[in-house]
Amino acid sequence: MTGLPSSETVVSSSSRRSRAEDLAVALSTQAGVTIPVDLESLGAFMGVSRITKERMVEDGRLRWFDGAPSIALNSDRPEVRQRFTLAHELAHILLAKNAIGVSFRTAVTQHSEQSERMCDAIAASILMPNSIVTEQIASADGLIDLRLLRAIASRCRVSMSAAASRVSEVIDETCWLIRWNRSEGKWTCVFRAGLPYEFASSRIELTNETELTLSRLSLSLTSWKELTIVIDNARMNSRCQISRDRSGCLMLIRQLSPLT
Ligand SMILES: [Zn+2]
Repeated sequence: MTGLPSSETVVSSSSRRSRAEDLAVALSTQAGVTIPVDLESLGAFMGVSRITKERMVEDGRLRWFDGAPSIALNSDRPEVRQRFTLAHELAHILLAKNAIGVSFRTAVTQHSEQSERMCDAIAASILMPNSIVTEQIASADGLIDLRLLRAIASRCRVSMSAAASRVSEVIDETCWLIRWNRSEGKWTCVFRAGLPYEFASSRIELTNETELTLSRLSLSLTSWKELTIVIDNARMNSRCQISRDRSGCLMLIRQLSPLT
């Protein structure tokens, strides 16, 4: 395994991804994991002394006692989210054990944005190996849609959001998953996944016309549409698949272009 940057070096998202991939593949091969990954066994393989579920504010917490890590997970979170958090905490351990030119304690306590992104990337690679995602895409004849995301989520025991982010990374194309809930006639974005980091704090809104289109869709209907959405006040044309349900809709955006 290779060493990792010990400080706030600027790591491009593609080099972070490939390094995360290398680390995850090396670990998974050494531990002989199968899909869905048994994270408790993987933790034991990595020397984790205890994994507990507790009521806490944050999603997960990594503690070290005499050099041995233990992990606490937020028991209120959905199971798939707990799994991603656990994989993320295991990634912190992996980074700490692979740190070169940095004290063990510094590596262990490093929670910079860079290391958080790196741990997310490693967690995604551990839970959804590139080979599995590629295989699922091939068996769907290359069609990236909500059905594919559900298949990956089910096979790897991850959330649809995690599956969307991972597919977006693997194919290096737009694959944004956005959940809109409708309450008292108003549509609100309740989660989004698969967006590049530069869009992390972007405001995403629907135009009145798009809201009307979504409101008129039949329940349980899944269809492809060309809809206008607004990103940071810029109107964009999106090609997306919509799955409408009682409380709102799930939107998978596959193409985006500025509206001329
Ligand atoms: Zn973290």
